[in-house]
Amino acid sequence: MTLHIPFDNSYARLPDRFFTRQTPTPVAQPGLIAINVPLARELGIDPDALASPDGIAALAGNSVPDGADPLAQVYAGHQFGGWSPQLGDGRAVLLGEVIDSKGIRRDLQLKGSGPTPYSRRGDGRAWVGPVIREYLVGEAMHALGIPTTRALAAVTTGEDIYREGRMPGAVLTRVASSHIRVGSFQYFAARKDIEALRVLTDHVIARHNPDAASPLDLLDKVISRQARLIAHWMGVGFIHGVMNTDNSHVAGDTIDYGPCAFMDAYHPETVYSSIDQHGRYAYGRQPEIGVWNMAQFATAILPLIDPDMDRAVELATESVHRFPDIYQDANLEVFRAKLGLTSAQEGDGDLINGLMHVMASSGADFTNCFRGLADGTARDWVVDLATFDTWAEGWQARRARDGSTAEDQEALMRASNPAVIPRNHQIEAAIQASITGDYTLFF
Ligand code: AMP
Ligand code: MG
Repeated sequence: MTLHIPFDNSYARLPDRFFTRQTPTPVAQPGLIAINVPLARELGIDPDALASPDGIAALAGNSVPDGADPLAQVYAGHQFGGWSPQLGDGRAVLLGEVIDSKGIRRDLQLKGSGPTPYSRRGDGRAWVGPVIREYLVGEAMHALGIPTTRALAAVTTGEDIYREGRMPGAVLTRVASSHIRVGSFQYFAARKDIEALRVLTDHVIARHNPDAASPLDLLDKVISRQARLIAHWMGVGFIHGVMNTDNSHVAGDTIDYGPCAFMDAYHPETVYSSIDQHGRYAYGRQPEIGVWNMAQFATAILPLIDPDMDRAVELATESVHRFPDIYQDANLEVFRAKLGLTSAQEGDGDLINGLMHVMASSGADFTNCFRGLADGTARDWVVDLATFDTWAEGWQARRARDGSTAEDQEALMRASNPAVIPRNHQIEAAIQASITGDYTLFF
């Protein structure tokens, strides 16, 4: 069975300084972990061909499929607030792009495919643990209706790599609306390469925002998508974990799943990543980090906003300052639905905060407590029952004023409060099992 991927590679047609052509490094023995069959079909790729020896060889980087133009993208970024003038795909190659069944251009990237000129001291590889986490969490986000990169496939390499001991290597095939990050813009801005900034901006407008009339308009659209993305994260208790500017996607997709998780017990200061010692990327700080990242994006494209620098700063500042309001509106919309409310009324913010406070002081399970609102079990997850009961009275009064039926409200709650999320301990168990080659927990 021959693998046919209908590539059309627009990024590879950008100027040479945007990337380095780089083929994946072959691995000892490719082995299939999983193929995402519905996603393959969406992309116009035959899932059986992907699962064939030819397909698995391509997914492991042992062969380059016809029409691919593999390259490593260059970018920069602020990591935990510190500036890195050059990052880039250090362990990934973009194979190319395909137009999906809805007419949307999607990147196909191999992650864990060997060293590139941007690997710095890294080995260019990934081990099976993070590959499984990215696959499971990304697909869960998609199922929850949250913009995200996807996983088309995961394969093992038959090679061990060294992390906290010897770990089996793996390669993830990532599908994304693009891999262009705030850091991609920062890379050229730092080099005062205005021409490249202009080309990148035109590319992002054509690809993600064809209706954007100007770079300033693009900035507004990127800000709005980031703000809404983070509101969605907040609504499912998701902690990204590494909201560096190189992991901040200009089309507003969730990208680069590292030490991320869905929170169990709710507390706004919850951090999952062990490297995040100061809680920079804690759950409750994600909106303000979103503002910070958008300020970096705005700074990078200042020269394109207005030839008069003072004017450019003024306009960009106004745009960035709109983030909190856009976020607040999106957040209210997300959490109103979680409470079953179909209308917007004065005091809704306080009502939501009231519940969040009881949940935080009780360490209530985020997912189960919200899910319990529809079936009357939310109270089981809190400790301070008196405060909860007072809150619930206010909530019932608000529901009565909503102008919708109790049935509609319950249906909305069920649709807006997931019953199942990939729990971190379950992902950890799947990862532990995968070390011994057992993928039963993954499926
Ligand atoms: P991340 O923390 O995954 O967003 O990665 C930050 C930067 O480090 C990116 O430029 C990655 O390509 C690079 N990087 C991460 N892990 C490796 C690795 N094992 N080998 C080479 N580069 C890596
Ligand atoms: Mg990254």
